[in-house]
Amino acid sequence: MFDLIVRGGTLPDGRVADIGIRGDRIAAVEPRIDAEAGAVIDAAGDLVSPPFVDPHFHMDATLSYGTPRVNASGTLLEGISLWGELRDLATVDEMVERALTYCDWAASMGLLAIRSHVDTTPDHLNTVTAMLEVCDKVRDYIDLQLVAFPQDGLYRAPNGRENVIRALDMGVDVVGGIPHFERTMTDGAASLKDLCEIAAQRGLMVDIHCDETDDPMSRHIETLAYETQRLGLQGRVAGSHLTSMHSMDNYYVSKLLPLIAEAGIAAIPNPLINIVLQGRHDSYPKRRGLTRVKEMQSHGIPVGWGQDCVLDPWYSLGTADMLDVAFMGLHVAQMTHPDEMARCFTMVTETNAAIIGLEDYGIRPGALASLVVLDAATPTEALRLRASRLAVISKGKVIARGPRGDAGLNVPGRPATVRRRQP
Ligand SMILES: [Zn+2]
Repeated sequence: MFDLIVRGGTLPDGRVADIGIRGDRIAAVEPRIDAEAGAVIDAAGDLVSPPFVDPHFHMDATLSYGTPRVNASGTLLEGISLWGELRDLATVDEMVERALTYCDWAASMGLLAIRSHVDTTPDHLNTVTAMLEVCDKVRDYIDLQLVAFPQDGLYRAPNGRENVIRALDMGVDVVGGIPHFERTMTDGAASLKDLCEIAAQRGLMVDIHCDETDDPMSRHIETLAYETQRLGLQGRVAGSHLTSMHSMDNYYVSKLLPLIAEAGIAAIPNPLINIVLQGRHDSYPKRRGLTRVKEMQSHGIPVGWGQDCVLDPWYSLGTADMLDVAFMGLHVAQMTHPDEMARCFTMVTETNAAIIGLEDYGIRPGALASLVVLDAATPTEALRLRASRLAVISKGKVIARGPRGDAGLNVPGRPATVRRRQP
């Protein structure tokens, strides 16, 4: 007897299976389960995936687009300046409400685990108070992991370092930083040494906004790799963005990639935001600014796509759809080989789950019963269609249902409905 059976779906690896769920756990994954169930979801012909995971987001700023103004230049720096105003205007309740609305969107999209950076710059730390409250409120259906993020610099902001420590003491999970925004390259390097030591002492993970610039001399990733190695933090550190690597000298990168791999650092490019923010100071040719995704992967470096922003001072679009993120990444990184397209789907599911350290993730007996049924036959088709979510199951409960992406058609001699699946 199962509480729920998801019947006949195609798993991302191509197997067709029934998935039996008891309580909040997957109890069986078999070609055919002949047993009673409290409820059954028919997934025949549809893709059944573990949930989407976003390893890089800003939940404190989300859904604030246009407040207090839109970002007229479209640059990172104007976005930081706008956010600097907004974070002192917004109340805790307003930030909680916006974040909860975003989590509704995420739940409906099967996005069930999110790592969010939380700005620790303002002394009031309302951002941290609000996001800790959101963590508690969504705990039953979304795993929200928080990063203490000194947006205005660990040393550049008056109480930058002290406030990171306060946020960690309040219960924030991960140590963040922004070395390229410190006053000098030397301060940037010193901030990484400091932050990695804090993480080592406290047994925490590290996720750095690292080299989010077009300046090829922004080489903080080198320092991050060194400190990770020195302090034995392998497997616990991520470099987010790494966009300067796009513009670096190829000879230098040939030395750098093995150092990143040796340090066990994961990379989190954010293609939606990177393609709109980078290259803004260029005329033509205009650089894409995405980091070297395929080259990293060929060195064994884990790379996962992050979303970063939805409707905030930096990005004016977004729907909490990690398939949008992977779709953009696929294009900008030119990952068009069939294996690469399929990998882009893995990069917003399994790879991201591993990067943020999710336990009990996946489609196997004993794992958490969190699944998404998609209106697509394969992972690549899910990307092509940005497929509709037919059902979202979180920890054993069906939390969202949606219609197929079909449309009615009124064309003489042609079918009455159209479904854009590959024939
Ligand atoms: Zn970010």
